[in-house]
Amino acid sequence: MTRRILVTSALPYANGSIHLGHLLEYIQTDIWVAFQKMQGNEVYYVCADDTHGTPVMLRAEKEGITPEALIARVSEEHQRDFSGFSVRFDHYHSTNAPENKTLCENIYRSLRSNELIEKREVEQFYDPVKAMFLPDRFIKGECPKCGAKDQYGDSCEACGATYQPTELKNAYSSVSGAAPIRKSSEHYFFKLSDARCEAFLRQWTQGEDRLQPEAANKMKEWLGEEGSAKLADWDISRDAPYFGFEIPDAPGKYFYVWLDAPVGYLASFTALAQGLKLNTDDFFKADSPCEMVHFIGKDILYFHALFWPAMLKFSGMRTPTRINAHGFLTVDGAKMSKSRGTFITADSYLQQGMNPEWLRYYFAAKLNSTMEDLDLNFQDFTARVNSDLVGKFVNIASRSAGFLSKRFDGVLADVTQNPLLQTIKTGAPAIAGFYEQREFGKAIREIMALTDQVNAYVDQNKPWELARQTGQDTQLQEVCTVCLEAFRLLSIYLKPVLPALVAKVEALFNITSLNWSDLGRSLGAGHRVSPFTHLMQRVEASQIAALIQANTDTLLAAAPTEKTQGKNTQKSSEKKAEKPKPAEQAAPAHIGIEEFAKVDLRMGKVLECKRVEGSTKLLQLSVDLGEAEPRNIFSGISAHYSPEQMTGKMVIVVANLAPRKMKFGISQGMVLCASPNDDTSLFVLTADSGALPGMKVS
Ligand SMILES: [Zn+2]
Repeated sequence: MTRRILVTSALPYANGSIHLGHLLEYIQTDIWVAFQKMQGNEVYYVCADDTHGTPVMLRAEKEGITPEALIARVSEEHQRDFSGFSVRFDHYHSTNAPENKTLCENIYRSLRSNELIEKREVEQFYDPVKAMFLPDRFIKGECPKCGAKDQYGDSCEACGATYQPTELKNAYSSVSGAAPIRKSSEHYFFKLSDARCEAFLRQWTQGEDRLQPEAANKMKEWLGEEGSAKLADWDISRDAPYFGFEIPDAPGKYFYVWLDAPVGYLASFTALAQGLKLNTDDFFKADSPCEMVHFIGKDILYFHALFWPAMLKFSGMRTPTRINAHGFLTVDGAKMSKSRGTFITADSYLQQGMNPEWLRYYFAAKLNSTMEDLDLNFQDFTARVNSDLVGKFVNIASRSAGFLSKRFDGVLADVTQNPLLQTIKTGAPAIAGFYEQREFGKAIREIMALTDQVNAYVDQNKPWELARQTGQDTQLQEVCTVCLEAFRLLSIYLKPVLPALVAKVEALFNITSLNWSDLGRSLGAGHRVSPFTHLMQRVEASQIAALIQANTDTLLAAAPTEKTQGKNTQKSSEKKAEKPKPAEQAAPAHIGIEEFAKVDLRMGKVLECKRVEGSTKLLQLSVDLGEAEPRNIFSGISAHYSPEQMTGKMVIVVANLAPRKMKFGISQGMVLCASPNDDTSLFVLTADSGALPGMKVS
């Protein structure tokens, strides 16, 4: 029976670039969708930009444009990046769209008539200069636990404590700098603590394989003991000024961005359905036989497994069939980091001329159905692409197709009874099962094991030797045909992962579009293939080096104020920092001596050094560079050097680095250090005795 499936990926926030952490989710979803489509299922893969909220409003204001102009520009960038990696949405929408407004209003009205909406006075921080209520992320102050300065309103980077913004000492608004005042206002709540919601969620989160086992357990924990009423009501309104949808019958009150974001899934599908003349009700009604499958990062599980199904259920709609949560992406074993160049944007990857299918293959080879983090290890990446994908798979075609073209005009022999081809076909149910369960790594292992068998066949039959012998033409044509047929079958298995490569394979075979059902057909004797053209390059080490260099932001290396983004899906963060434009990032693999000469490196003598109150990372140095005044430099070396060790030391300073304003003052240079990739140790660079302050380093 044909399944009808609506599939979504989480909506990227319209306040930053797509990076490899995002792509882990979109590529995973795209592979699953492509597999389902190859099975002949009716699948709709939709997504949208998540556009509302304070960060977008403030950023647009800062850029001097309207929020609409900002989100239009970002949407274009996002869609360009997605299509660069062959992420093939059936529709890409925006949450700032009329379909979404209507759906939000309808859902809200249904919840209200079910008596699940309540008004309540809430006292919050208010910026009296900017005349707006402040989200937690926009309030900073001293940590109530350890006293560290300039900490965010929800957690302390110095001691790791979490707290309410009201607990901060000496709080200030990061928008205007003003001391926020306490002000109360009427807020709208979705009564998640209602006994009906609790009962529903207890049953829903544990049933019918809707959540992965570890996610279902997490929900059990969050829901607590029966009758303990652990769920808090959810504040779904924000006061003007706010970029979003105004709540019906509540002037000046807006839906919180997190309410209208998941509704954006339905809005995007609604817009698609209009074009395709589909009835959305078939998919949205409470007893819909269609599936609705969400792919998300584990950081937004709470929203998707509690708020979202409850919202849908009590507005009379269907609930998700399944929620597939994945872990975060780490790079070379660590959180993605701007200072190490591992916070890699989608655009910079493509700008380096790297093949997007390398990444798709690598992710697929490592993905499973759990919420474990996935590590992008560049050595492993290079090895898997070069030895497995190119060396084993692509090589099958390059070792056999040439002989067929040159000697037999591309015409295939009759090999329907060949046992190797039968073996490859018998792998289909297992491989399909792995794709269905999102055990892509297992699918790839299975496919590569079959690929090994084909290569063993090539080695045994040695087409290159047959080609030298006389009277072996029939044998040569048969061996090469077996290889190419095997290659075609393996291409079917790999097509969900490698759409662009397999498109070239389809062109090689002069066939339109490979589907799963083509496993049961053979091309037959007499079918003609095109001359072989090169299918895929190998990864070069220099490309990886250039990619990391292009993403290295040396300024940020000395900036502990930057929140490291472990949560590399999307927007648990109402805090995303803007990333540099790709044009500024792109750097060639080599630089000329003139480029190097632009960096003014000078010897410096540390006159004074002290700890920085409120920072566990920084030391403050006063450094003599032979200038009229010593320089004030903050350096993130406190974990490795004491002020005593640094005082009197000769160091190498980047003297012409733009002064950087940090929360503790202005830093007028950077001290050079050596450190391994994992930052477990660090060594300040110095010079042999005799070097004097101000000497040029070259
Ligand atoms: Zn603290």
